[in-house]
Amino acid sequence: MDKLIITVAPTGSVPTKEMTPHVPLTPKEIGEDALRCYNAGASIIHIHARDNGKPASGIKIFKEIIDEVKQRCPEMIIQISTGGRGRSGKKRGSALKLKPEMASLTTGSVNFSNMVYANPPELIDYLAEQMKKYSIKPECEIFDSAMISNAILLYEAGLIKAPIHFNFVMGMTGALPANERNLKFLIDSIPENSTWCVSGIGRYQLDMNRYAIYHNGHVRTGLEDNIYMEKGVLATNAGLVERIVRISKEYKRDIASPSEARKILSL
Ligand code: ZN
Repeated sequence: MDKLIITVAPTGSVPTKEMTPHVPLTPKEIGEDALRCYNAGASIIHIHARDNGKPASGIKIFKEIIDEVKQRCPEMIIQISTGGRGRSGKKRGSALKLKPEMASLTTGSVNFSNMVYANPPELIDYLAEQMKKYSIKPECEIFDSAMISNAILLYEAGLIKAPIHFNFVMGMTGALPANERNLKFLIDSIPENSTWCVSGIGRYQLDMNRYAIYHNGHVRTGLEDNIYMEKGVLATNAGLVERIVRISKEYKRDIASPSEARKILSL
């Protein structure tokens, strides 16, 4: 089995301090949490920015966060989010100018509960072009299986390079349900030399992480996807990473360091 890449998504767009005091929101809090997660075994940090708690996309705030992370863990792979919640249009890509090693790219639209997560084709193309221009590896965020076909179309159009890296985000209300059958279908649907990771949302996080480890994929964890360790017990980001490290031992998978993760992902 390959070494396991652990991505931590510490902040996201949704958790607030009222929901959990453990969510890092300011650049300094994110930097300090990044170090704890790095020490626990995470090699990639998936970053969302907040401005007074609200989702933000400004280049200045992203730079502050990246600086705080790099200062404490220079080895860690930085992946910024170009996701939608609370942000819209091309602004979602403003921080790509900072040339992080990776960025998320959602390759289609989907419903999230009672809202539309809109990713029109021209916006996807624009974000992919920006990533190409700055040599940023996209992580294709897959909320439904058609998004895999769209990612392959982007590859065929020369906007993204192979091997494509996918993140299967499973268990959002309104999107693809989180179960092993759907995961196997997604794995079977991607080009052969691709790499993939799984994010399970809410109560599905742990099970989906386990399936990903078992099926030789990679794992995303963190408070962006789920704020509980178990029912009624709030998690910390480092605690969630530590749990993945414990589980990976059961499946005899060693943890990839950031440099090993760079090789696996062809960064
Ligand atoms: Zn995200």
